[in-house]
Amino acid sequence: MKAILLDHVEQMSIRDVEIPVPKEDEVLIKVKAAGLCGSDFHIYHGTYPAVYPLIQGHEFSGVIEKTGEKAGRWKVGQRVTADPNIYCHHCYYCLKSQENMCENAQASGVTRNGAFAEYVVVPASQLYELPKQISFEEGALIEPLACALYGVKRLQPEYGGKAVIFGAGPMGLLLLKALNIAGMSQVAVVDLDPVCLERASAMGAAKTFSHIEEVKNAYPRGFDVVVDATGNPKVIGQMFDAAAKRARILQFGCADTDTVVPISPYQIYANDWTYIGTCTAVHTYNEAIDLISEGKIRVRDVISQVVSMETLAEYLANGKPAGTMKIVMRPDGAE
Ligand SMILES: [Zn+2]
Ligand SMILES: [Zn+2]
Repeated sequence: MKAILLDHVEQMSIRDVEIPVPKEDEVLIKVKAAGLCGSDFHIYHGTYPAVYPLIQGHEFSGVIEKTGEKAGRWKVGQRVTADPNIYCHHCYYCLKSQENMCENAQASGVTRNGAFAEYVVVPASQLYELPKQISFEEGALIEPLACALYGVKRLQPEYGGKAVIFGAGPMGLLLLKALNIAGMSQVAVVDLDPVCLERASAMGAAKTFSHIEEVKNAYPRGFDVVVDATGNPKVIGQMFDAAAKRARILQFGCADTDTVVPISPYQIYANDWTYIGTCTAVHTYNEAIDLISEGKIRVRDVISQVVSMETLAEYLANGKPAGTMKIVMRPDGAE
């Protein structure tokens, strides 16, 4: 099968490799769509813990091609997506129902081969069936939406509050939709790229800004909810200036593992701030599927391009073009 193989940091090629064979509790999926994530660039450049050689791709959908003997209810031909994060279910954290902190976690496209290929093998326990009304491209966005929903669950925003999101990339836009559904009275978005801001307005942003000074002038008391969806240290350093007293601040963006940002403990203390982390997604896949099926969150609005494996590899190596949102790869061309 054709696959994008990352032999080591920044050493990538499209190659012909063996189709993987599912173990007894696994299934083989013919990949129909796979999304390019911000973390894929970190993995490519070696700034995110991953295991090489690696086929990346952790957001995907496809059709079951083969099942292991103990794959349970799953059948050949079913349309599915999979939670890429595989937990051990017996470590200290798993037994506390904090699975995303699992001491033995594996992840498709990070520590084991993912979906930047024609086929991928996953444990049957990771599967979710795609309802008919969800296309394969939309199915590739279930994982990112599940992460956004988990972030909002961690955040516990107060109903009717004002929120601001830094970063109008695909995750910023999914968080915008999720926060609007969670009952915010308004959600503002900050980004340098005017094309991204236009898209944010079209998708329900109450206001858009390109600079922190504009935010402070327009909202001198600040926002009840502040979200970083960039992982950029400069942005993270500035976002606290947009926080109201008692604000809840969500660190959603993934910074490089060695990034350090100066923050003021006095400001956190004096303003009763709550600064919250959020890592991947736990128990939010069914909600993501329901919100897409019911048309409450139109994830297709976040997709800007559907590309070939070759183009995906080029974007991974050289960065995606400015103003683009979620890039989805289809190994087999059109649906
Ligand atoms: Zn991702
Ligand atoms: Zn565990």
